[in-house]
Amino acid sequence: MNPPPPPPSQISNIEPRKSGGLSLISVASYVFNYQLVGKPFLAYQRHQDERKLKALKQKPQQLLAPPLVRTARMKEMMSRHYLQARYANGVRKVAWVTSGAPVEILQALGFVLIYPENHAALCGARKKAEEICTEAENAGYSRDLCSYARTDLGTLLSGKTIVGRLPRPDLLLCCNNICQTVHLWYRVLASRMKVPLVLIDTPFLYEPAQPHQIEFVKRQIEEMIPVAERVAGKSLSMARLKEVARYSKDAAELWLEILNRGRQKPSPITAFDGFTNMGPIVDLRGEAETVEFYRSLLEEIDERIAAGIPAVKGEKYRVLWDNLPIWYRMGWLSKTLGKQGINLVASDYTYAWGELAPMMDVEKPLDTAARVYLHPILNRSTGDKLRSMKRMVKDFDLHGVILHSDRSCKPYSLGQIDQRDRLTKDLGLAAVLLEADHNDPRAFSEEQALGRIEAFAEMLH
Ligand code: SF4
Repeated sequence: MNPPPPPPSQISNIEPRKSGGLSLISVASYVFNYQLVGKPFLAYQRHQDERKLKALKQKPQQLLAPPLVRTARMKEMMSRHYLQARYANGVRKVAWVTSGAPVEILQALGFVLIYPENHAALCGARKKAEEICTEAENAGYSRDLCSYARTDLGTLLSGKTIVGRLPRPDLLLCCNNICQTVHLWYRVLASRMKVPLVLIDTPFLYEPAQPHQIEFVKRQIEEMIPVAERVAGKSLSMARLKEVARYSKDAAELWLEILNRGRQKPSPITAFDGFTNMGPIVDLRGEAETVEFYRSLLEEIDERIAAGIPAVKGEKYRVLWDNLPIWYRMGWLSKTLGKQGINLVASDYTYAWGELAPMMDVEKPLDTAARVYLHPILNRSTGDKLRSMKRMVKDFDLHGVILHSDRSCKPYSLGQIDQRDRLTKDLGLAAVLLEADHNDPRAFSEEQALGRIEAFAEMLH
């Protein structure tokens, strides 16, 4: 079957801004603020953080293991990434991308990449999202819109952020394999900032992708390349693309291995460790340092296993977390669950960034990109998601499931009531729905959440 031609609207017709070459002031600012001052300062701060984390000793009454020491390195990498981006305009080309976009091509072309979803999550974790979302709402964007989109639009309108400043994009790359919200959100960005937008349209999968569907996505990726090359002002090197694809695959494999350490009993990690350390697999996949970081994180987790240190002392119940985390309540949730002897040993959200690693063939980066970016959990049917959850229940030997009914993320929350009922009926598991929002604290009630968790703990007993 011949693939249909991609719709003409996929690449917006806004001309890329004239490059105008490097700006001397921008280069000087980049070199001074990022390379000479910022990078060494962040390295120093990481050493200080590591020293403090190493000195932390778990007190006898403390239920949760101290944070992983390598988290300090993750913090340095992410801070450096945003610092570099802050001074990138006029020095490097910048692209804003959705989390499920085929970014390896842009990386191979040397773009600095900004993931507005990750930026929004950082604002959420630092409890700034409500204030920033309000800026978007005051400008007329509905509170029913995803809180990641509202955080991003709020930053765009007000400049408010926790990372100093977001650079202006030269290109927008949006892939609708996670939801349709991103399509409309990126159209707003393109029209407000007058930036070319590339949309990769991925057919929704009710079964594994058929060859014509892979071809359909691959052709769109091929059409994107000359647009990205024009913005970057250089040609794509296939050798460099394969190198980036190799780093992506290696990092995804290591990430999967890390998460699979949750199968140990008791588990050395919690889903919260996964949420905290997932920044590089989202924002920095395709980089050598990311591979190195996850290798060292895995080593530290293995040291914990060897030393017999559980993530939750007296782990009684092993539980799966479904959906995005509640970024602004991670500390409260981990303590509240820990008190009940509950360890979230797995999360289908963090797993999504590793489970597709076996599909990656670095020698065929375009075919791989088409296949892999067609298969994220949110581009597959709810029945397929239920099957994945059941597999995880078996592989991690779980007692229950907490399904975060996320007011913002409709595609992730769709079908959760049926999934809860099927997990209870088919597997005899305890399962509970927890209503909240991943980034907007106005949709979270501590009393209600506490009541649900206590009732869930009763079911587990
Ligand atoms: S609706 Fe869900 S998938 Fe879409 S941007 Fe928001 S959190 Fe991501």
